[in-house]
Amino acid sequence: MILKYLKFLFDKLTAPKYILKGSCKKCGRCCRNIVFFAYDKPIKSISQYEDLRTKNKRLNLFYPSGENDKGEILFTCKSLTPDNRCKHYFFRSMYCRKYPMVKSLVSGKYLTPPDECGYEIVSEKKFEDFL
Ligand code: SF4
Ligand code: SF4
Repeated sequence: MILKYLKFLFDKLTAPKYILKGSCKKCGRCCRNIVFFAYDKPIKSISQYEDLRTKNKRLNLFYPSGENDKGEILFTCKSLTPDNRCKHYFFRSMYCRKYPMVKSLVSGKYLTPPDECGYEIVSEKKFEDFL
């Protein structure tokens, strides 16, 4: 048990650290292409969304605005203005504050920001540092 814990600690301390590079282009893409998960699965139908909306009022802050090529419903935040600004910028959630430094709920790894995004997630160390 202790060995397992020490290994966990060692892995944690030696794991590569990641940082954000770039800047926000204010395209608003991240506020209008949101996929929500329910019970570890992406929402794929409006009826499922309507059902969940009755249980989780926070879903009312978003509206369904499309579908991606995997059949997942895409949501847009109601706080997004037509000129891609956030109406509630100072009160936005932790998730919004951290984006795009966010991890996949499925793999636990950082999600790659979309091509349009002005940010990229890079390793703090250069490749040569690992040699
Ligand atoms: S609260 Fe603001 S930053 Fe967060 S998704 Fe909505 S518009 Fe975007
Ligand atoms: S997708 Fe990236 S560049 Fe566009 S608004 Fe979001 S953080 Fe900014």
